[in-house]
Amino acid sequence: MLLIPCPWCGQRNEDEFMCGGESARVRPDDPASTTDAQWSDYLYNSTNHKGVVREWWWHVNGCTKWFVIDRDTVTHAIQPASEEIS
Ligand SMILES: [Zn+2]
Repeated sequence: MLLIPCPWCGQRNEDEFMCGGESARVRPDDPASTTDAQWSDYLYNSTNHKGVVREWWWHVNGCTKWFVIDRDTVTHAIQPASEEIS
């Protein structure tokens, strides 16, 4: 079981969250002018980096807020990141 630190609710079970993917992912400025391959790459491919990755997480079964954490993909160690939105 992974404990995820929600900035508003504190440490909670991972079952209450949904991962939103890497926070460094950038949406194409004009989706209408991107190719299907570029759009598919944006939607479905991640760097799958080994080590610390900054990710968006949604506390879907809690406060429903989004926030960013730094998660080590090897050890699952989690550190809060400074970015957040409500
Ligand atoms: Zn929360």
